[in-house]
Amino acid sequence: IKRNPNEEEFHQAVYEILFSLAPVFDQHPEFIKAGILERLVEPERMVSFRVPWVDDQGKVRVNRGYRVQFNSANGPYKGGLRFHPTVNASIIKFLGFEQIFKNSLTGLPIGGGKGGADFDPKGKSDMEMMRFCQSFMTELYRFIGPDTDVPAGDIGVGAAEIGYMFGQYKRIRNANEAGVLTGKGLDYGGSLIRKEATGYGAVYFAEEMLKATGDSMEGKRVIVSGSGNVSIYAIEKAQQLGAHVVACSDSSGYIYDPNGINLDTVKQLKEVDRKRISDYTLVHPEAEFHVNFTDIWSIPCEVAIPSATQNEIDAKAAKQLIAGGVKAVVEGANMPSSLEAIDLFLDNNVLFGPAKAANAGGVAVSALEMAQNSMRFAWTAEEVDARLLQIMKNIYSESMKAAENYGSPGNLVVGSNIAGFLKVARIMLAQGVI
Ligand code: NDP
Repeated sequence: IKRNPNEEEFHQAVYEILFSLAPVFDQHPEFIKAGILERLVEPERMVSFRVPWVDDQGKVRVNRGYRVQFNSANGPYKGGLRFHPTVNASIIKFLGFEQIFKNSLTGLPIGGGKGGADFDPKGKSDMEMMRFCQSFMTELYRFIGPDTDVPAGDIGVGAAEIGYMFGQYKRIRNANEAGVLTGKGLDYGGSLIRKEATGYGAVYFAEEMLKATGDSMEGKRVIVSGSGNVSIYAIEKAQQLGAHVVACSDSSGYIYDPNGINLDTVKQLKEVDRKRISDYTLVHPEAEFHVNFTDIWSIPCEVAIPSATQNEIDAKAAKQLIAGGVKAVVEGANMPSSLEAIDLFLDNNVLFGPAKAANAGGVAVSALEMAQNSMRFAWTAEEVDARLLQIMKNIYSESMKAAENYGSPGNLVVGSNIAGFLKVARIMLAQGVI
């Protein structure tokens, strides 16, 4: 805390991991001697940089960009870019730190990184977005490359932004290195199912958790917060598996549709028209709109898939979910549940799928995109989806196994932290003090 003052989110992420790892260190004194923990919590490298750009009125604006290259033991740094006004060093470090373990859990050779800018995409014109992305990449290009560091999208960064950044990278480097970014458009190196991967993966994970108790997603009453990339495809897969999704949100509020969310309407509003979720009620007058988005958790449901942002479920929301009969909480977003909320879920026997396991499908398919780029070949949607499903099943079973082996049977928080950690720690040991 002294070394990283004012980095509350980073402390929260480190605390959660360290707490889980205690039994590992009891069994592996070699990790203590090798200073694995001290090295893990210190990023290999972190840069912050000025991003100047010109708005449509001709005024120069300045934002701050970041990239943290946290750990490369398991492969090139890999992790998304977030454009949101709340972005700061603490947020980028918590996301980068989590990414190390998540990426390791996928079983694919990718290290941990993250980046972004305190830039607000809301209300910006397409040309402003392009100029911002170009300026951002004009600095970022120095630090990344297909074998070094491979960014992707996150909040506020979708295929359009990745396209502008890729174009600028290609222009500066005079090299068509498709593998430098993932989440690209399908016409120039993107992978089928990448867009769907995080949301689909979270629901595949939920299905595995329920299956272990003899249950399934079919017929479940579900709430998915957010209405962005992760949320839309979590809703899609949940509906495909026969669930009844009744609510979703954006930062201005949430909608409750007792007839079940009409996903075509949400896609039109969010992916095409870039409108607010409140407009849903114009098309479906029987649905209700409420302004406080965190109150979405007061609606009774059996499965909750928080897919908007960090700490969106606090202790109060967790208690509401428990009172409403929730059976499973599966994290589509990164760190959406506070530490108090997680304790409440675990103490009340709610099945809990932590982010680094449940939302790893996105980065897993990003790694599959890198593999396809290297081969200069593209798999079909069915092939990628089948690999995604298998990866999510493996993450579930490896996490359950680690939880069992280290004395916390059934606890996926502990299990996923340990399973993700062990591989990275072994590699760090093998590669010496670097
Ligand atoms: P998007 O930008 O596509 O969507 C984010 C959604 O969450 C929007 O509906 C947004 O509402 C809402 N939201 C964002 N910030 C806040 C906030 N501070 N308060 C309330 N609502 C908010 O992002 P993604 O769907 O890509 O990402 C969502 C989460 O999933 C993030 O935690 C991200 O790190 C995580 N994630 C994403 C992956 C991916 O592949 N995209 C992979 C793994 C994790 P509004 O539009 O009003 O801001």
